Amino acid sequence: MTVEQMHDLSINNKLTIQNTKCACFYCLKTFDGSDVVRFIDNGNTARCPACGTDAVLPRIVDIDTLKELHKHYF
Ligand SMILES: [Zn+2]
Repeated sequence: MTVEQMHDLSINNKLTIQNTKCACFYCLKTFDGSDVVRFIDNGNTARCPACGTDAVLPRIVDIDTLKELHKHYF
């Protein structure tokens, strides 16, 4: 999966983050989808519960991939 494809998972992900472990490629933390309580884009895109950034992936991603995404998009 390319970084662009990974990044797409962080958009309009309200449904895909439910009942799964998530990872944030801004602060690099992992958490449950149920921990996400804030959304943007009319409630469709998750904001990280730790840092508030819309960089939530609906899966656990290895740290090197998270760092690559972070470098690419921030
Ligand atoms: Zn975060």
